[in-house]
Amino acid sequence: SSPFSNLSVIPLDPHYALKELFNADHDPKKVILGSGVYRDDNSKPWVLPSVKKAEELVDQAQDSARYEYLPITGYAPFYNAARDLLFGPFDEKAVHVVSLHTISGTGANHLGARFLSDALRPSSVWLSDPSWVNHANIWGLVGVTVKLYPYWNREKRVLDFEKMIEKLETEAATGDVIVLHACAHNPTGVDPTKEQWKRIAEVCEKRALFPFFDCAYQGFATGDLDEDAWAVRHFVERGTLEIAVAQSFSKNMGLYGERVGAFHLVTASPDSAAKAKGHLTRLQRGQISQPPTRGSKLATTILTNPRLFQEWLADLREMSSRIKNMRKALYEELLSLGTPGTWDHIVSQIGMFSYTGLSPEQVATVQTDNHVYILKSGRISVAGLNTKNVKHVAEGIDAAVR
Ligand code: PMP
Repeated sequence: SSPFSNLSVIPLDPHYALKELFNADHDPKKVILGSGVYRDDNSKPWVLPSVKKAEELVDQAQDSARYEYLPITGYAPFYNAARDLLFGPFDEKAVHVVSLHTISGTGANHLGARFLSDALRPSSVWLSDPSWVNHANIWGLVGVTVKLYPYWNREKRVLDFEKMIEKLETEAATGDVIVLHACAHNPTGVDPTKEQWKRIAEVCEKRALFPFFDCAYQGFATGDLDEDAWAVRHFVERGTLEIAVAQSFSKNMGLYGERVGAFHLVTASPDSAAKAKGHLTRLQRGQISQPPTRGSKLATTILTNPRLFQEWLADLREMSSRIKNMRKALYEELLSLGTPGTWDHIVSQIGMFSYTGLSPEQVATVQTDNHVYILKSGRISVAGLNTKNVKHVAEGIDAAVR
């Protein structure tokens, strides 16, 4: 008999389970609002015009070395440009940053989790309740106890800020890691204000917690790259904290399948940076040896060519404003239907997602009756809405909550 027959049964990831049900549904009105992938107004994937131009430039420049291995730490022009986009100008004498090119944001989260678990030996990692589903999975895989800090107040549909602070102040242990979403919190679409970020930084200082930012949506929250990096930069500028950041270009460049990302560690001394770099490089060698080339060249072309960079900003604005318009459209449809409940949060939340507040039963009803596929948590990917399906989705939600 096979020893594998003793394995427990692992349920399919909720995103993929939802996608399978959606694919099996042949109703022409079907809509999926599951995974965080951008769609245009015809529900089609969108290759950013700036990316198309970068493809041409990268293809023109390709020589016989194009399939060579990158160094273990990845493509240096990429991770340096990615670092500058994230941190902006910083004082290189006071701030020491180690950057590695990773398999997108997921790879950066995993590399970071593995590194921090070895280097800091935290008693726990603190995740927001709720958080991106893969955070608990990743930290569980590296063997660190996962604990949750309050984040979402289900009743009021707002950030549960005082409870979050209280929990961290009373229960987090020295050296614990706290995962923070740099902007456009997934799944709730609710971010702390600047004043609240300052208090979170103070708690990290006071309790000696290690902040690990996950930055998967820079440019998607407000449409402004600097504004969306404010929290990360603030933590660095305080000069009192060492931090890590997992950075992804999946969403803001639409390079999902190319797996373009970086891990950055900000340390207080050049000695720490050099040692950390050695360990991170060894981990990367054991996990993936070298990251893939092409996507990082596309991203670098956009980040370093001033004309393409401006075009990219316009593409970002196009995506973020379409999403904002869809929030407004859904909100207005619900109001005009007189749907019971308050729906202001749909327009006040930011980024790709809205935490609708629909219960799992209501989600099931919209799915069966209206062929609208939403995660059990009630989170919708607003990017899945368009001018043709928003009325249908609103009608489904309306019927389910009555
Ligand atoms: N972090 C968060 C919060 C995310 O929402 C995502 C994508 N859904 C990721 C990380 C990772 O995405 P990727 O691996 O494609 O960069």
